[in-house]
Amino acid sequence: MLGLMQRRELLISSIIQHAARHHGEAEIVSRRDDGRIVRTTYRALERRARKLMGALRELGVRFGDRVATLAMNSDRHLELYYAISGMGAVCHTINPRLAPNDIAYIIGHAEDHVLFVDACFAPLAAAIAPRVAAVLRAIVVLAETGEMKQLDLPPGVAQLDYESLVEAADEQDDWPVFDENTASGLCYTSGTTGMPKGVLYSHRSSLLHAYAVNSADAVAMRATTRVLPVVPMFHVNAWGLPYAAPMVGAALIMPGRHLDPVSLRALMDGERVDLSVGVPTVWLALVHHMRQTGGGFRTLKRIMSGGAALPRALVAAFAELGVEACQGWGMTETSPVVTYNGPKPATAALTGEARLDHAVRQGRALFGADVRAVGPDGAEAPWDGGSQGDISCRGHWIAKGYFRAPESEIADDAWFPTGDVGLIDPDGFLLLTDRSKDLIKSGGEWISSIELENIAVGHPDVAEAAAIAAPDEKWGERPLLIVVPRQGHEPRPEELRAFFKGKVASFAIPDRVIVAAELPHGATGKILKHELRRLYAGGK
Ligand code: AMP
Repeated sequence: MLGLMQRRELLISSIIQHAARHHGEAEIVSRRDDGRIVRTTYRALERRARKLMGALRELGVRFGDRVATLAMNSDRHLELYYAISGMGAVCHTINPRLAPNDIAYIIGHAEDHVLFVDACFAPLAAAIAPRVAAVLRAIVVLAETGEMKQLDLPPGVAQLDYESLVEAADEQDDWPVFDENTASGLCYTSGTTGMPKGVLYSHRSSLLHAYAVNSADAVAMRATTRVLPVVPMFHVNAWGLPYAAPMVGAALIMPGRHLDPVSLRALMDGERVDLSVGVPTVWLALVHHMRQTGGGFRTLKRIMSGGAALPRALVAAFAELGVEACQGWGMTETSPVVTYNGPKPATAALTGEARLDHAVRQGRALFGADVRAVGPDGAEAPWDGGSQGDISCRGHWIAKGYFRAPESEIADDAWFPTGDVGLIDPDGFLLLTDRSKDLIKSGGEWISSIELENIAVGHPDVAEAAAIAAPDEKWGERPLLIVVPRQGHEPRPEELRAFFKGKVASFAIPDRVIVAAELPHGATGKILKHELRRLYAGGK
């Protein structure tokens, strides 16, 4: 017998409808490129999103089409999130920090017909346009009417400006209703091998994730919260905050491109922010700034960190400033939050060093997702706080495959391998100890060691190359390249670094190049990265 309860589709549009109806006056505050602060409300944003939905239809966007964004956090990006997904199209957020080659590849792979870009990324979009002219029909610049100068675009790719587009569009009366399993968003991750892979979120997965993110033992926002997401809307939906905040009527304070500590602190203090979310690099810079200038935050009470391990010293530094620092863990494929370090009866009363020891843990699984460590014997490692294993997870918001890669699909109840290595303690808290993949993470951005190696060995003086992560105070990690010369050649480090210019994003260019006589190899011929880390980067 089936239950006798209403069945309504879990749709992203229902969030903004709820926010407009029950938190209509709640604010969305955005800092524009030129530093101006603009304000809107959930009520006004919902109406504009319905107009934007009309504009998208007039542009020829249909159910299931992918629509790309190349933008920082703003009210306009939020309108796009709701209008695109709300009409049943797929909001494809692109990371502007990727190399232009990768951006062109993913636009082609996703077949984005329309691309919305912040004015500051318009030159980047124009530079890529000739390479994606076969799929792209329009670039819409997120700017006022007449604010943007004409870009040099290939024939067939129109340039439009956002405000006149929305202004002229027909306001749609209703949000369409469709299957909650419909794709809502697309975000590409750079895998360990090959080209970036697309993670395709659904309305259902995004909604359930937003509920979980907002639970009391996790981010716990409420209608009185004023949250500043530093974590970008172009990466894993800014950890679900664009959904979770309007769900409860929390005010969203959008920093735009102004992510330096001076601007962030001013925005936090000026806009009475009490919660902020970002990667450790941002927090390190902010704490450094606070120490230099003295004083404290006016209203900030909590920060949430993720994307890389939260250093112990950072937790202590924030505590001195009267701010609680807490971390969550996840990845693009997991929407992203799987675990969050919320207290349990056994941990709530910890103080001093014991509290800091506990704070470096990545946390325990939120309801709706699960996590486990698998030991070398293939069995789940015991929760004893010492048995390490490969971390895998499963749940309502965990990917079961990559976009347009049927070979990657796993069963609905299968465990997704994360590539992270860690252990779980008796209270169920995960602690990451390593990662099995050899990617390098600098300031929240992945750098593929394989890509760097491939480029390096393309240099005429280089026989073999290995890229590893070297610890870095500011960025967390920076790439270090070790090369073996071709016989009779003498590679020069500075020239090698210059060789990377234009081939990878500038943040991916190795900081240091070491010339070595040989590289250590394992039994199957693979380069022993851990050995290199030990030799050159202070690893054990
Ligand atoms: P991405 O898919 O780019 O979001 O990167 C996900 C990866 O970032 C994870 O697989 C981890 O290796 C790393 N990561 C995320 N959160 C944390 C955390 N709290 N501590 C340590 N590493 C993390």
